[in-house]
Amino acid sequence: MRNLDILIIGAGIAGLTAARALQHLGFRPRVYEQALQLGEVGAGLTLSPNATHALNAIGLQGVLEALGTRPDRGGVKDWQSGELTVEISRGSEMLEKYGAPYHQIHRADLHAALADGVLAVDPQAIMLGHSFRGLRQQGGRVEAEFENGVRVTGDALVGADGVRSRVRAVLFGESLPRFTGYVAYRGLVPLAALPEGLIEPTSCLSTGPHRSFTRYLIRRGTLVNYVGLAERDDWREEGWSIPATIDEMLREYSGWYEGVRTIIRSTPPGRLFKWALFDRDALPEWTRGSATLLGDAAHPMLPFLGQGAAMGIEDGMILARAFAAAESVEQALGRYVAARLERANWVMHESRRTATRYHSGQSEHFRPGQHVSAESLGIMSYNPAAVPV
Ligand SMILES: Cc1cc2nc3c(=O)[nH]c(=O)nc-3n(C[C@H](O)[C@H](O)[C@H](O)COP(=O)(O)OP(=O)(O)OC[C@H]3O[C@@H](n4cnc5c(N)ncnc54)[C@H](O)[C@@H]3O)c2cc1C
Repeated sequence: MRNLDILIIGAGIAGLTAARALQHLGFRPRVYEQALQLGEVGAGLTLSPNATHALNAIGLQGVLEALGTRPDRGGVKDWQSGELTVEISRGSEMLEKYGAPYHQIHRADLHAALADGVLAVDPQAIMLGHSFRGLRQQGGRVEAEFENGVRVTGDALVGADGVRSRVRAVLFGESLPRFTGYVAYRGLVPLAALPEGLIEPTSCLSTGPHRSFTRYLIRRGTLVNYVGLAERDDWREEGWSIPATIDEMLREYSGWYEGVRTIIRSTPPGRLFKWALFDRDALPEWTRGSATLLGDAAHPMLPFLGQGAAMGIEDGMILARAFAAAESVEQALGRYVAARLERANWVMHESRRTATRYHSGQSEHFRPGQHVSAESLGIMSYNPAAVPV
């Protein structure tokens, strides 16, 4: 089994985690990425313990400790008054409770660490400039074809090519991702540019009618990462790097407490972007023959529980463990899907439900004991490095 040729399409966080986890267990996967250069967008990412378990298991603990931030306290604030209605312990309690920490990190830092880890083991493992077009399966082998005319053959193929997955379209038919009605604004502000005491607690969600605003510290506490999620039906442009203006976002958050508006106003030029959020219906199956799906390609989800990348990271760890435990590709993919599909589809569903709750404007949802989060739903107590596969 260790000699299997496993082809991974897409070098995002999910595809690279799968590649690194497979390497860690003795495989030599190859990753094909459409971009000519590796990289991630300039934004933050929350890594809850269910994700850090997997990243620690593949050797990234040092990177997370060095580049991530462990918030000591989190909380929920009311959109109008700024009153802290729910307090959440996020510091050493997380480690004690779940056996792995809760980190907040710059996406580019995590992505670079994953890519460096993969390339350190096998400098030839990532092929850039390879845009997947189609595949053929015959006699237990998969042939992938790329837009540049290259064809490669392997024993298994993993589509980790994101929400607009071409692999998913080829395996399960063409369908367009659906605009969810939510637009995300994201920005990065140097902590030093903000009045002292404003970022308290260190990790904070503010909720109001039809809008929410999440902010936390990354890059060793020097940068404030924020994401504003707003309901809009008049704009649905795609892409992660569409510039937005401070005035436009302030209009979106008019009437909100001054703490939120100060952060928006302090965003340096060129550091505020917006994009429309798309999702898809859950799939009842991810595998066709020797090809399967992973990460957003399998289960794109709304960001309200901060679990999209975490689910892709869990997938990567479980996929590698399934290959290590199985005696055939069929068995490996069977074990992978059996362990992953129900959980990922459940978190996808809960992310949608949470969106409605967070934007309901009903303050009784944001009282101690009433607040719904990845933690209250029990999502964080899953360890993908240890669950049965
Ligand atoms: C506002 C917002 C905030 C979020 N916050 C969090 C959070 O705090 N915590 C969390 O866990 N998740 C969060 N998420 C979700 C997370 O960002 C995604 O779930 C995650 O990045 C998906 O990773 P992926 O590797 O599956 O897909 P992608 O990151 O989309 O990577 C896919 C890769 O495949 C490549 N590709 C695409 N098509 C092809 C092709 N045809 N051929 C070859 N390569 C191809 C792409 O270039 C890309 O490199 C958030 C999402 C949003 C929108």
